[in-house]
Amino acid sequence: MPSSAEHQHNTGPASRRRRALLGMAGAVLPSSLFVWHGPRQGRRVALTFDDGPCELTPAYLDVLARFAARATFFVVGEQCREHPELVRQIEAEGHALGSHGYTHAHFPDLVARGLLQGELERTAALLPVGHRRWVRPPYGDLTARSLLACARAGFTTVLWSHDSGDYRTRQADPVRQAVAPETVEAGAIVLLHEGQVWTLDALTSILARLTESGHDLVTIDALFA
Ligand SMILES: [Zn+2]
Repeated sequence: MPSSAEHQHNTGPASRRRRALLGMAGAVLPSSLFVWHGPRQGRRVALTFDDGPCELTPAYLDVLARFAARATFFVVGEQCREHPELVRQIEAEGHALGSHGYTHAHFPDLVARGLLQGELERTAALLPVGHRRWVRPPYGDLTARSLLACARAGFTTVLWSHDSGDYRTRQADPVRQAVAPETVEAGAIVLLHEGQVWTLDALTSILARLTESGHDLVTIDALFA
């Protein structure tokens, strides 16, 4: 599933504005509705992978297993229907799953029923019980209306605080640098993508350095536990 340049950059004024807005939203909205950052005390960090499952998923899982790292996979419903065995494997290896919609549509563009039944309920039905709490809207796109629709359907919306930028490149090096341990703060929710060989190539070094520097790589559930 192609990712979009609509994701915000990690640095610069746009990112500072985004962080300020998210900080404000995080302060006024209950965490049952919306999260973008975990607790800042401790060493926990949540890596998240959007847009799977797909052929490369087992290779991602192998790297995570090598470092005993846990992550959260925001999966696309129509790909879960194609690869139910990968959904089971992600769960069996101790990772968390979340919904990324059924068709990877922009949630704000959908009528209420299209969002609820077409995207949220159809995808939830393909996720293991116990993995139907989190949703990441495709492209990080949301409005008050789509956010409330997700909440009414029982989902907490998860954005991110740390953008790997792995959808803007086709090379592993910039991804490695973007997730260097000194840039990843405690409680960070890190945005990464499945199905990209350059992200997969960067992953071993990212995990090696993050674990070496004492970051505790956990699922979104464990981040907020
Ligand atoms: Zn996506």
